[in-house]
Amino acid sequence: MSARPRKNTYAGLTDVGRVRTHNEDAILLEPPLFAVADGLGGHEAGEVASNTAIDALVTSAPRRPDAKALGRAVRTANRAVIQAAHDGLGRDGMGTTLTAAVVEGGRIAVAHVGDSRAYLLHGGTLERITEDHSVVADMIRQGTLTEEQSRTHPNRSVITRALGTDNNMYPDTFEVDAETGDRLLLCSDGLTGMLPDAEIAEILDTYRDPDVAVRMLVDRANEAGGHDNTSVVLVDIEAGRGGLAAPRAPRGWTSVLVWTFAFLAVLAIAGWGTYRYAQERAYLVDEGGVVVLYRGVPGEFAGVSLRWLEAETTITVSALDIVTAQRLANGVPVENVEAGFDLIEQYRARIDPPALEPSPEPEPSAGTP
Ligand code: MN
Repeated sequence: MSARPRKNTYAGLTDVGRVRTHNEDAILLEPPLFAVADGLGGHEAGEVASNTAIDALVTSAPRRPDAKALGRAVRTANRAVIQAAHDGLGRDGMGTTLTAAVVEGGRIAVAHVGDSRAYLLHGGTLERITEDHSVVADMIRQGTLTEEQSRTHPNRSVITRALGTDNNMYPDTFEVDAETGDRLLLCSDGLTGMLPDAEIAEILDTYRDPDVAVRMLVDRANEAGGHDNTSVVLVDIEAGRGGLAAPRAPRGWTSVLVWTFAFLAVLAIAGWGTYRYAQERAYLVDEGGVVVLYRGVPGEFAGVSLRWLEAETTITVSALDIVTAQRLANGVPVENVEAGFDLIEQYRARIDPPALEPSPEPEPSAGTP
């Protein structure tokens, strides 16, 4: 091994852009913790939301790449933003995205809400590792909009999940493994709205000094128009560092056997862990126009779907507000089945407020013929 300093090198930059007068983004560079937050709600609110979220994250985030713990810290940050508005800081309805990562060697834990993004540059290829929680991302997933069209769509900045509005808000969380030489990029939509992924990849591949690379990303976003605040955090991965250090390559067939067994054991544990994890979780989803509760998680894992029908409801999705309806199209994750039933009751109360409107059931004494 070389004598290079065995540490993750990193850099970050946040810039107001060419059009806005205030920067409502906030970034965090406190290794092993990194984050980008993009505040919403206007001046004196957006920046309060993003900074409140970052402050709460710093005090509650794990110092190891534990996605579940990082997810809990993001939920704490969510409550902090809601509480801040309640306390008269910022304003009601303010919110923020939050994309956070804990990096230890090659292990990366991510927790994510909104349309800021995490990418991994690996071998010159830029892989988006977060899914946007936005109206246009939903439309792309449904096949009604292309990536290119989403850049100019009037609803391009409407997000379907944010910190600061919903106590039940739940972040996406996951862990990934990266290799030495890979680069982790966190960024706000001020970057991705101005530059296509191919250009971001080219810049990251060309400028190996992280300070230079973040400067180039921001400059190019501004050259392209700088329509929004632009924030970037770049972490160079040094996989040999930290408690989860990559093992040295085994030599000889006994080592190969040992490593094969270790690999199979990890696969089995990962599979069992995923199954147990799915069993604890739940989500609500739009199925045929009504709200349905599943135990498990949306999507498939290695071709296997991990979901079990828990309850069908009579709540029609079209009776709910548009943001909730959009979220239900992809599934609204909740902590467990109980929380799912709670959320169903909240939906029901929204469309059928008790004691304010007559029940939809015909009342025998209500004077109907
Ligand atoms: Mn933005």
